Amino acid sequence: LMQLFRPLDLLGFVYRTIRQGMIDMAEMFKLMDTSVEVEDVPGAPALIIRKPTVTFDNVVFGYDPDRTILQGLSFEVPAGDNIAIVGPSGAGKSTIARLLFRFYDPWSGRILIDGQDIAQLQQATVRGAIGIVPQDSVLFNDTIGYNIAYGKADTDDRTVQAAARDAAILPFIEKLPQGFDTQVGERGLKLSGGEKQRVAIARTLVKNPPILMLDEATSALDSRTEQDILATLDRISRDRTTLSIAHRLSTIADADEILVLDQGKLAERGKHNQLLRKDGLYAEMWQRQASEADG
Ligand code: ATP
Repeated sequence: LMQLFRPLDLLGFVYRTIRQGMIDMAEMFKLMDTSVEVEDVPGAPALIIRKPTVTFDNVVFGYDPDRTILQGLSFEVPAGDNIAIVGPSGAGKSTIARLLFRFYDPWSGRILIDGQDIAQLQQATVRGAIGIVPQDSVLFNDTIGYNIAYGKADTDDRTVQAAARDAAILPFIEKLPQGFDTQVGERGLKLSGGEKQRVAIARTLVKNPPILMLDEATSALDSRTEQDILATLDRISRDRTTLSIAHRLSTIADADEILVLDQGKLAERGKHNQLLRKDGLYAEMWQRQASEADG
């Protein structure tokens, strides 16, 4: 009998992996203009993570052959650390996220997760290890419970509940007459930006990835909601390796390390106070944002 079940298990796994891939694709489309599929090398092994370190090793990449975007980028994120990537518009911040999610392979250099070159691995297993909380989340025309469990067909109610609680959206759901069975999306209950964001966070918690990629997740929210969401993100990123792409520097001042990217190169790196003392690009960006906030 086991012989008979195994192929079915495998099919279930493949199905779930593809579904998870699709939701992440939908999320990532917010980050990108076009998508070029990379191909797995034949017999590519699965990513196996013991310690979720992330390493960029001399990565060179561009979208078009005649225009290099990342010019030999190297950095390492130790397992469990929280690093922020900042820099002027067009510096290549989102490009780093797209490469880590393996939407593209670098021209040269390597991207490693726990020492394994992701270009040599099954891309589905790489994507399975990374959770994305995007700027603007996609909701499906289905129940709120489905939206949270999405991508994991075998998720039980308790896991969905726990994820909703950790994403601080459980009280909201419990007040709805139909609870987790409430229809949301275009044909159902319309959720606010903050509520949608919390659904996205809950969905990420169901996925339970060792690596998190946050794309300035709070840009469209009022400041009270923003503070709440930032606190939630701070909590869920504590045990995970986290890369945050940030536009507003005030949200990342306590990152373990800040990478300041300028024209595809690391211009500066360090902690907030070190970078301020340096009086370089970061200090300049910080002062500009502070004066904008005042005026
Ligand atoms: P922002 O802060 O404005 O979001 P960013 O630092 O995230 O900017 P990227 O989105 O990584 O910047 O883009 C880096 C460069 O790559 C930009 O000059 C952009 O025009 C270019 N670029 C981005 N996506 C593509 C694409 N799909 N095809 C061609 N060029 C692209």
